Amino acid sequence: MTSEFHIYNTLSRKKEIFEPLNPPFVGLYACGPTVYGDAHLGHARQAITFDVLFRTLMHLEYKVRYVRNITDVGHLVDDADDGEDKILKKARLESLEPMEVVQYYMNRYHENMASLNVLPPSIEPRASGHIIEQQELIAKIIEAGYAYEVNGSVYFDVARYNKDHSYGILSGRKVEDLISNTRSLDGQSEKRDPLDFSLWKKADPSHIMRWSSQWGEGYPGWHLECSAMSTKYLGMQFDIHGGGLDLLFPHHECEIAQNVAGYGKPSVKYWMHNNMITINGKKMGRSLGNFITLDQFFSGEHEMLEGRYSAMTIRFFILQAHYRSTLDFSNEALRASQKGLEKLLKAMALLDTIKPLENSSISVKSLHNKCEEALRDDMNTPILIAHLFDGVKIIRALSEAKESITASDLDLLKSLYRTMVYDVLGISPSNAPEAENNLTGDLVEMILQLRKDAKANKDYNTADQIRNRLTQLGLNLKDHKEGTDWEIN
Ligand code: ZN
Repeated sequence: MTSEFHIYNTLSRKKEIFEPLNPPFVGLYACGPTVYGDAHLGHARQAITFDVLFRTLMHLEYKVRYVRNITDVGHLVDDADDGEDKILKKARLESLEPMEVVQYYMNRYHENMASLNVLPPSIEPRASGHIIEQQELIAKIIEAGYAYEVNGSVYFDVARYNKDHSYGILSGRKVEDLISNTRSLDGQSEKRDPLDFSLWKKADPSHIMRWSSQWGEGYPGWHLECSAMSTKYLGMQFDIHGGGLDLLFPHHECEIAQNVAGYGKPSVKYWMHNNMITINGKKMGRSLGNFITLDQFFSGEHEMLEGRYSAMTIRFFILQAHYRSTLDFSNEALRASQKGLEKLLKAMALLDTIKPLENSSISVKSLHNKCEEALRDDMNTPILIAHLFDGVKIIRALSEAKESITASDLDLLKSLYRTMVYDVLGISPSNAPEAENNLTGDLVEMILQLRKDAKANKDYNTADQIRNRLTQLGLNLKDHKEGTDWEIN
């Protein structure tokens, strides 16, 4: 078994052995939400991916400082760099103060994350609280010759930067190709080149979120906050920067350019990106009308949902795909995840009923090693879960005394499941569907036991009556050698 942790680095485009800059400390930064609307499945996937990374690093005994920001200013509607500020737009539509919008959606985001059992980060900085740091970075970039001021706004000079460094190293895009793909500037623009992006924007008189600066009253460009806040809390060089694949370009590409231009060198050793969620094969988006918020998943109140889904079902569904693969939502897939999770938790409950014996007929060590290896292989959670399901068969066999286990192996097996399911995958038993259905489950199990007893007494009449009555009540029963599986239709 390898003790190394391998992670896929978007920058090198390959899996690398994880070697932190200052072990045992690890600096981890992940882009957080722009708080102007309710969180959806895409937010959940990004937060859960880096939550599992945070948990995995702690499991590997690193001391992690995890910084996840809140974007509360500067994220503009059009290409993130033009048009109205997303938060200001929402505030205008709802007749609220922009910071009321921010507070409202930030609270809701935190509630959603708590439901999903996403651990709070070590530091959660907000862009509006770091205006000075952002202004200092702009000044450095101007001083280095990679930005220019026009009429109270400051833009990053991509062409000038690309002469000395290489713009596009993360996304693999070439400046020449980008130029031919960008619409030409209209006469209104102050930018020298359409590829240039804003570092500081002059606030027009109606713009409420504004700060004074040496360039006049304005507000920072969106990409700047992550450069300024990550290095403030994690140092000029840090280990991991994460985010969704949709942030790779231009957001993260611009971040690299800003850091190299302002600080003289890149700051991030490993870049990690989680893939996107599709809905019935289509891209998800507010404008596409297939947008389901987390609260709608929890309540079932959306026309595309065939029921409500617990937060742990959502979490388990996300973890059943590798973070670098796309994940397609469908009701069938979510129901399958719910059943899978129930099966896993039921087996874990069985662990407490197993009586240890003199010898072990199964190898806990081998199961343990397989789980560890899957986790250390770029957080391969679907393979890890597959191994845990293999273990479910072993647990069932043990509970039916078809296999045997010693007391110390049983302790190892219990500890393996607790560590992997609760600590690493972050499944919270109290938020799981199993907990909600506990009474129903116990009652069904009790009735099925009565039916089993009736069969054993050759009272087939009673056994059949119980079966028919349960079926009428909407239960699906499946008899097999080891007992009876059931599910509610
Ligand atoms: Zn960011």
